[in-house]
Amino acid sequence: MTYLAVPISGADTNSATEQIKAAKTAGAQILELRTDYLKDLTTDSLCRLLESAKATSLPIIVTCRDSAQGGKNDHPQQLRTAILVEALNAGADYIDCEYDNFLKPQIKEQLLNALSQQKTTRLILSAHNFDAPFRDLKDLCDDILQTCPDAIPKLVYTASHINDCFPAFDLLNEKTEDIIVFCMAQPGFISRIITKKLGGFLTFASLDDGSATAPGQITIRQLKELYRFDHIDKDTKLFGVIASPIAHSLSPDIFNVSFDHQDSNSLYLPLLIEGQAQQFNEFIENITSRPWLNFGGFSVTIPHKTNALDYVEKHGEFLEPLAAEIGAVNTLKVGLTGRVSGYNTDYAGALDALTSTMSIKKHKLHKVDIAVLGAGGVARAVVAALTDVGAKLTIYNRTEKKAQSLAEEFNCKYAPLDRAQSLDARVIVNCTSIGMYPNIDDTPLPPQALKPEMFVFDTVYNPVETTLLKDAAAAGAKTITGAQMFLRQAMAQYKIFTGKEPDEQIMEKTITNRLTP
Ligand code: NAP
Repeated sequence: MTYLAVPISGADTNSATEQIKAAKTAGAQILELRTDYLKDLTTDSLCRLLESAKATSLPIIVTCRDSAQGGKNDHPQQLRTAILVEALNAGADYIDCEYDNFLKPQIKEQLLNALSQQKTTRLILSAHNFDAPFRDLKDLCDDILQTCPDAIPKLVYTASHINDCFPAFDLLNEKTEDIIVFCMAQPGFISRIITKKLGGFLTFASLDDGSATAPGQITIRQLKELYRFDHIDKDTKLFGVIASPIAHSLSPDIFNVSFDHQDSNSLYLPLLIEGQAQQFNEFIENITSRPWLNFGGFSVTIPHKTNALDYVEKHGEFLEPLAAEIGAVNTLKVGLTGRVSGYNTDYAGALDALTSTMSIKKHKLHKVDIAVLGAGGVARAVVAALTDVGAKLTIYNRTEKKAQSLAEEFNCKYAPLDRAQSLDARVIVNCTSIGMYPNIDDTPLPPQALKPEMFVFDTVYNPVETTLLKDAAAAGAKTITGAQMFLRQAMAQYKIFTGKEPDEQIMEKTITNRLTP
């Protein structure tokens, strides 16, 4: 079992007691009393807090963290040791002492003496590195177990890149003893969840954003509702979206809701991959060389779609010809051999969104005049899809050279973006990021460019109703939202990942709920 631990970090016993009650209600499975947060820390205040915590019947860890290792208040070592001994005597299930401090003979002797008299309490020996990964995580873990074989080693370090998480996963995978290992900071976020799959002793979640006690700590609600904590076990299949930045991605919501709906033992994670091709390639190698992590596939977005294409071309199993034509891979599937295959679902997503709103079959777009605004990644998929069905395209872009090169590749016309103000087309597709949150009042075209007989499709999906779409609707034009394309490309990804059709309504509702202010 991997406990879901909630740190109790009130500055006084009253607020800490309120947190204890809230943690129990929210579904905590173990409480960590961070007594170093108490301003007036005494053995009496500890005992009052312990009484409140015992009323929940949850297991209790008592920690009095040294300020050098992230403790809140600078309580003297003597008091901190006295607190741990008192906690032991008062029946705490676990006490947590910094390994460095435990190695000091006086502290070691006091704690081991107390532990020998209170056999139901276990010792957690912890080490934190707030700057970087430990140089040799496994050696440190072995040292702790050699020094105190009954202790639970707790090793926590800051990941400056997601690739720093893999030593933690290796240690969890290798050890059969109870150990606690995870990474701090946003790049280490996934380690707080994956630890359950790999049998870590516990993971921490905060009551809310304001009560986190370490960088990158997730809230208990997110962990249970969005990341399906209660369903994770050693057989859980993992998926995720590779992006940078990642914070506002909708994909974890829609995939996890769909997995839940289909009762699938799968979990979808946000995978922040900073850097360029080298870091991307390292990440994929890290995954494919660890089949026991059981990653099944990835959605890929900014800025890694071409990195994904290059990777599959050089090391992959299969590259969908369409993805090669578009020049971008937005979906990777990990095959049984451990090698990845690349696909592009933006193409189908854009075409489906367009034809279903226009209530036409694809071939009816043949010879239709379409203006594509933008020449970036999404524009490539849209241009490939629309030229394949024989539409007459003109690409308008701020950087004219990029419009020219895309137009030459797909044999269509091009012009600078400012010429779009006087365009004459049946369909307009905005593939620029103009109007995207937070610049929601921006629009790529003035209202007078929009006519009632037009279909206006904005691939921007945050917000759903962009200024361009509002202006188009006001002009009497039909509108197609980026959310419709996003939904369809995600549905196609779900099918590639699982072989099953997702429930469209559930995915759509989740997107709408997330994007509605
Ligand atoms: P990208 O490769 O970075 O391309 C951005 C495009 O926007 C380029 O053509 C760029 O022109 C243009 N642009 C950006 N800022 C501009 C400005 N201030 N004025 C004029 N042109 C500007 O990005 P992408 O991957 O194609 O994504 C573009 C949009 O599509 C994003 O908003 C994204 O959220 C959306 N999207 C939607 C879906 C969906 O499923 N609905 C999927 C993926 C992406 P230059 O060439 O001159 O820089």
